[in-house]
Amino acid sequence: MAAESIDVAVVGAGAAGVATCWALVERGLSVRVFDGGLGATSLAGGAIDDRPWEELARAATTLRVEPLARPVGAEAARFVAALGLHRLGDEGASMPRVATPMGRFRIARGHDRALLDLSRLADGARVLVPRVPRAEWDADALARAWSADDYARARGFELVSMDAELTMHLGEARIASADLAALHDDDARVRWLGARLLELVAREGRADALLLGPWLGATHARAEALTQQVGVPVGEAMGEVGGAAGLRFEAARSRLFERIAVSLEREQVHAAHLDDAKVELTCESGATLRARAVVLAIGGVASGGIVFDPPERHAGRDAPSGVRAPFRTSLAAPVTLAAAGRVFDVGSSLFGPALEREAWPTDADPGLLECVGVACRGARVGARLFAAGDVIADRPRTFLEAASSGIVAADAVLGALRGR
Ligand SMILES: Cc1cc2nc3c(=O)[nH]c(=O)nc-3n(C[C@H](O)[C@H](O)[C@H](O)COP(=O)(O)OP(=O)(O)OC[C@H]3O[C@@H](n4cnc5c(N)ncnc54)[C@H](O)[C@@H]3O)c2cc1C
Repeated sequence: MAAESIDVAVVGAGAAGVATCWALVERGLSVRVFDGGLGATSLAGGAIDDRPWEELARAATTLRVEPLARPVGAEAARFVAALGLHRLGDEGASMPRVATPMGRFRIARGHDRALLDLSRLADGARVLVPRVPRAEWDADALARAWSADDYARARGFELVSMDAELTMHLGEARIASADLAALHDDDARVRWLGARLLELVAREGRADALLLGPWLGATHARAEALTQQVGVPVGEAMGEVGGAAGLRFEAARSRLFERIAVSLEREQVHAAHLDDAKVELTCESGATLRARAVVLAIGGVASGGIVFDPPERHAGRDAPSGVRAPFRTSLAAPVTLAAAGRVFDVGSSLFGPALEREAWPTDADPGLLECVGVACRGARVGARLFAAGDVIADRPRTFLEAASSGIVAADAVLGALRGR
């Protein structure tokens, strides 16, 4: 099959891949993007961070200061606006606070617009948590846990659970939360929900906000429409892995790609071979493509972009036939893998690293599975090969870090193609 020739190929369409495509198009380059599956961006619960939020929260507690929103960079902020899914906290102001399904209020640099930002409520706010008979939503336990959170106590919030009728049909108590969210893509259904919430507010007398589960739309965040109808802020708590926030990211990605005329090709890329003039990609379908440059935005271990594949996995009933590095990338490419500042070599062990010891974080240091990735200089892996996002070794695994590194990769590609 003859190889088709293209300008820049991006492999992976999570936060990093989408930001890379957007930035390449902004810089006047043509791009094709391939993604064979699902990544961390589609699995996350709706908060977006620049640094891991636990790190910032720990530092703020130690220093006894209120954590303030740090600059995210003008280009990254423009990308977030272009994607149109998230609200970023104002630079220098108190960071947004979102409710976790574990009963905490945590800081975030930004959040999916469907989520309720508790930092915007007045001190002493009374927040209603309606009971809905669903497995992920024990309103009584959640309201108790959220009330006991330090932030809620400091702000004098009152979280109150109460009976409510927020599902319409029999069986909605048992469908997946993402399916319930998809029902709220329908305008009439959102108006129906708004009417039930208005009844609830009228019955309760005082409500300063309503906190619901991750059910408010799968293609668009419907919280703003509900807030308008009900007259007080209505929003979601963060979702569990694989919920509505991920679907809304994928819908926002499709809208952005359509606007910038990039089509997402649902293909796993198997290999990238480099020579002096081009990179040749081989796809799952057998198609081959030539590109002047390739950006690997394939994610880390969570997306399968980095695969844990120690020699023992191929041992069968006997000892492995030889030694080799315990991780590889999802596509064959001339990359070097590293973690915690150390390059992985073939190693002397037949069994790979001791995950029971190394996989877990130690104090503020991430575990091995969270920092293993491709060794790069900036975004550059090789002459025509670049990387962005979670695939890069030792960078924070966050949405805004991935998006910013996509923009850096686009600049590096532009520089390389212009011979700089
Ligand atoms: C459960 C969970 C919760 C999280 N919560 C937060 C949070 O609250 N806040 C925050 O800021 N960050 C959070 N993160 C981290 C954040 O989601 C990631 O750091 C960021 O989204 C990574 O984006 P990425 O584009 O680098 O990778 P990904 O989103 O993983 O995208 C990589 C893509 O590449 C594709 N791919 C891989 N190999 C190939 C191949 N060979 N061919 C074609 N396609 C390929 C994958 O299918 C995938 O779609 C969370 C992550 C997880 C897993």
